[in-house]
Amino acid sequence: MAHGKLYDISVSLGDESITFPGDTPYQRTMVQTLEDGDDCNLSEITMSAHAGTHMDAPYHFFNDGETIDRFPVEKFILPARVVSIQNDVAIAPAELKNVNVQPGEAILFKTRNSTNGLIESGVFYEDFVYLGEKGADWCVHKGVGLVGIDYVSIEKFSSKAFTVHRKILGGGIPVLEGINLKSVPPGRYTLYCFPLKVGGGDGAPVRAVLNAFPRP
Ligand SMILES: [Zn+2]
Repeated sequence: MAHGKLYDISVSLGDESITFPGDTPYQRTMVQTLEDGDDCNLSEITMSAHAGTHMDAPYHFFNDGETIDRFPVEKFILPARVVSIQNDVAIAPAELKNVNVQPGEAILFKTRNSTNGLIESGVFYEDFVYLGEKGADWCVHKGVGLVGIDYVSIEKFSSKAFTVHRKILGGGIPVLEGINLKSVPPGRYTLYCFPLKVGGGDGAPVRAVLNAFPRP
């Protein structure tokens, strides 16, 4: 299959991934090693379903929402638009006025979270750039196919109501969190983002890749 330049926008689980306060920390432990005379190298992984680069399913906030294993696979391969955000607090409609996103297209926000390296630092920062409530309304109104952000959460840290998660997931739109867009120029791509098929899952880790296929 012909393709353009590929960008792996996933963070590495371990050194690069961030534990959201209250979540189970990612941990990988060797249970067998060749060095110790075992048959193979074999590890055990303990983690939150929302560790590193991952997808949120509607069930994350809605009991009757779709779970990650039931989400249509068509949602995992999408035309995508990477948009550069200058606001260093929140993503708001003022900066999105000229973004001509098409219905069904994924919108991925590139903020200082990735340009400053916060997303791959392995350390949690409270003051990450988040999607504001009006920005969330804009995404729903445009009928985007997926919303992606370069931090482990899309929501303002202190939020107790989780309004942005509810608006987006309530619209049946999956959320892709924890993508690293540092080396990705703004523009149009094809997004591949397949979450693990976790039965009944509220979310799952994803290996996310952007394909910059050639355009005339
Ligand atoms: Zn999540």
